[in-house]
Amino acid sequence: MKIIAIGRNYVEHIEELNNERPEEPIIFTKPDTALVRNNQPFYYPDFSIDIHYEVELVIRICKMGKNIHEKFASSYFDAIGLGIDFTARDLQNKAKNKGLPWTLAKGFDGSAPISEFLPLSSIKDVHNLNFSLQLDREVKQKGNSSLMLFDFNTIISYVSRFITLRSGDMIFTGTPKGVGPVKIGNILEGYIEDQKLLEVEIK
Ligand code: MG
Repeated sequence: MKIIAIGRNYVEHIEELNNERPEEPIIFTKPDTALVRNNQPFYYPDFSIDIHYEVELVIRICKMGKNIHEKFASSYFDAIGLGIDFTARDLQNKAKNKGLPWTLAKGFDGSAPISEFLPLSSIKDVHNLNFSLQLDREVKQKGNSSLMLFDFNTIISYVSRFITLRSGDMIFTGTPKGVGPVKIGNILEGYIEDQKLLEVEIK
């Protein structure tokens, strides 16, 4: 199982971080040791003083594919959930300024809490799906999958030109605007539509 993630996939988030709008999807990966399941807590690491939350829709791949054409891509994922792409923004900014990879800023242990997955059969329209994140009961991020620069099918097609996708792989599909720092003691709660799927305590 691998975790693939997309950067800069919502225009208003690109603007809040003063980034350029990409012509092709920006892809990075997280190791499987980044995963946190079952609403287990997130432990603030000692190598950063600026950990940010980024709530994202996460799709689950259901069969192996390479060079998947966009028009067939929808048959390669069967479930959707919520994840937090925790980012050590201080390390990421340092790396960005030097043109170096984001691996440690994005892929450290515990940087990918993930909810249960909802089968696509239970979703009315996956391409028009609301999701949100609350920090200590205050809404900080609100997104809708229709606002992605690169939609699920485009992402699957694009990634599979380079990396074979396998059943069980997860793709984090980018965060909407409103990212910000967490502190020890905060509680993050993630929703798809009105359904709470994720709760993460910062310890
Ligand atoms: Mg992200």
